[in-house]
Amino acid sequence: MISIEEALEIVTSLARAKVGPDFMPAERVPLPSSVGRVLREDARADADSPPFDRSIKDGFALRVSDLTDTGADLKVVGESRAGKSFEGVVGPGECCEIMTGAAVPAGAEAVVMVEYTERPSDGIVRILRGAGGGENIQSMGAEAHRDDLIFGSGRGIRTSDLGILATVGKSQVSVSRKPRVAIVSTGDELVDVDRQPGRDQIRNSNSYTLYAQVLEAGGEPEMLGIARDDADDLRDKIGEGLKRDILLVSGGVSMGKYDLVEGIFDEFGVEVSFDKVAMKPGKPTVFGHRDKTFVFGLPGNPVSTMVSFQLFVRPLIRLLLQAADVDGTVLEAVLNEKMRCDNVRFACVPASVRFRNGSYRLSRVKWKGSSDLVGLSQANAYVLLPSQEGWLEAGAVVKFIPIAASC
Ligand code: AMP
Ligand code: MG
Repeated sequence: MISIEEALEIVTSLARAKVGPDFMPAERVPLPSSVGRVLREDARADADSPPFDRSIKDGFALRVSDLTDTGADLKVVGESRAGKSFEGVVGPGECCEIMTGAAVPAGAEAVVMVEYTERPSDGIVRILRGAGGGENIQSMGAEAHRDDLIFGSGRGIRTSDLGILATVGKSQVSVSRKPRVAIVSTGDELVDVDRQPGRDQIRNSNSYTLYAQVLEAGGEPEMLGIARDDADDLRDKIGEGLKRDILLVSGGVSMGKYDLVEGIFDEFGVEVSFDKVAMKPGKPTVFGHRDKTFVFGLPGNPVSTMVSFQLFVRPLIRLLLQAADVDGTVLEAVLNEKMRCDNVRFACVPASVRFRNGSYRLSRVKWKGSSDLVGLSQANAYVLLPSQEGWLEAGAVVKFIPIAASC
């Protein structure tokens, strides 16, 4: 059995060998559709930001040397507001009324907030305190200068990035085409979600969790339905799935008499790189490829399927997308209570993480094992437990993968 690291290395090196400018090619999408996609161009500032010295407060723009520590009375010579600046110059003994976001007029060196002023008479403002140079002014180019690289190709586009791309004038954005991911669930016991399961039957849930995981990872999922534990049916569905960029088959990869998936992969000429990983859950994870299609046989148990996806399929999708963040987030937490390790397999177990007294604290959740999606739903993290004898004691530092709200 190979380790998770070895398995991941096999997946990523095979993907790196195949990925290129044409796999996945870049495509242009309208800005609003680009969130969640992977950028395939460099985004540079097309102007200084802010484009002028900008007031960050409502108040009065003035010359610092006109004020004592307790202020001064100044003549109001104009108004500068967002979208319409004062075109004159603020001279000695003068000030300009100014609004948040407006350009600071020539001559002015600071903005004193309106809260620190009085209006003793028309055209005069009484400033009630001193000011330092640059106070309440955000200088031109403070955020970015023209031609600065804001983010490079490979950036996973986030919500705030849409605002930046809008600021720099990108109405169309070049992003990676989404890899097409076929999903086949296998098992004679499975019925569709809209059916009442009979005796010995359960509803197919893996197709749905995998569908959502593919979406979150940035792929384009397609459900090909349920294949029976029957060679002909499996051939049909697997043959169809091999026409996509990635084929995910759940179930039928253990050692049971009706676990036929690997045999069908072999018939189709899928080159299998590994079919067992020293992990818990998720041991019977199969990975291979045929031509340009990457193929996974994922363990049937619902949580095992999700864990295997998270550890191997997600990085593959990110890599094909040419994303900079292939590995995903791994953080550290302190164990609140002791946790049992497996002496052979690395464990990836649902857990609950809270931020307490300056660090992440990790606790167990009520989880009944690899079929227990209800237990998983109580968790907000997978804790990664090394393979070793016995227990990790409370206070030990462990790694965890946060489960994003959408996963
Ligand atoms: P298998 O790997 O095919 O032996 O499946 C292992 C366990 O996972 C069995 O209890 C199956 O009933 C269950 N299982 C397999 N596929 C699915 C699925 N698509 N949805 C829900 N449970 C499944
Ligand atoms: Mg099965």
